[in-house]
Amino acid sequence: MTHRATTARSLSDLVAAGALPRAALDDAVLAQVANDYAIAVTPELLDLMDGSPERDPIARQFLPTAHEATTTPAELADPIGDHAHAPVKGIVHRYPDRVLLKPLHACPVYCRFCFRREQVGPGGEALDDAELDAALDYVARRPEIWEVIVTGGDPFMLSPRRISRIVRALDAVTHVAVIRFHSRVPIVDAARVSDELVAALKAERAAVYVGVHCNHARELTPAARASLARLADAGIPLLSQSVLLRGVNDSVEVLEALFRALVAARVKPYYLHHPDLARGTGHFRLSIDEGQALMRALRGRLSGLCQPTYVLDTPGGHGKSPIGPSYVSNPGPDGKRAIVDYLGGEHAYVSE
Ligand code: SF4
Repeated sequence: MTHRATTARSLSDLVAAGALPRAALDDAVLAQVANDYAIAVTPELLDLMDGSPERDPIARQFLPTAHEATTTPAELADPIGDHAHAPVKGIVHRYPDRVLLKPLHACPVYCRFCFRREQVGPGGEALDDAELDAALDYVARRPEIWEVIVTGGDPFMLSPRRISRIVRALDAVTHVAVIRFHSRVPIVDAARVSDELVAALKAERAAVYVGVHCNHARELTPAARASLARLADAGIPLLSQSVLLRGVNDSVEVLEALFRALVAARVKPYYLHHPDLARGTGHFRLSIDEGQALMRALRGRLSGLCQPTYVLDTPGGHGKSPIGPSYVSNPGPDGKRAIVDYLGGEHAYVSE
């Protein structure tokens, strides 16, 4: 693959980088997909790709395909129901004690399975100063808000100065105990995690966490691990979110390697998301039964430190629910429950 110094943002950029064949430029379906959903692939990811989206888990996440032109009846423009809980621009208030703050809708890459794919894109509709002030004011006026999750889009696309402004404003709101940034940047555009960005995350009072989005161990390149180390060395606790994706990480071996690599990079696996019902993403979706079987297999292989919670964001804005397998039965007539161990063996348990 040809090395590029800049992010590929169109089919012709991807052809020039050697990521797509020349015939892609004459493909009307692909042209429609590129028109409907934004494209961005960073040089790091172009270098990592090793084959077509049908074969390579990195290419599959970022290269547009004709599959995206197919929308199933169950798929939705707003699959997790953000709009149902947006009291002011840039805020999603779904749970009582926390809000999402979305200062922009631009990302360093555009994932082909993105749950906000109808909102994110170049230009990214960043909040202007007045809108950001109104969003911060919403937080300041509600003492029940304990945690603010800064997401988007990708908040690490903002300048360190703007990030610092957000951190300082939230740090001044004494009922906000936790400021959590969610970003793909440390993995896919590692150089952006500069000393200035790390310094901008420093709060005087509130705890600042960073959650990174990573779906395959190969994404944890030396550059990505170095950017995570810069954050961890600054005392910032790191979490990960991964999406369970057919053809990317739908095997126990790949998931095991991913979660081990994350923990070794000082990142605690937090959520494994069942893929959302975003439009044009059916080729990525597994059944919940398949996801549960993978989680059961992981339980026998990995320590608790390496285990994420398998969750589904229920369509309609009802929030996340854990959908992992259960290891305990209901009590029988004798009051005993069956507990399943990590090898699948069943054991009777009576609590009293
Ligand atoms: S980085 Fe996140 S918000 Fe951006 S395209 Fe990927 S999944 Fe969507």
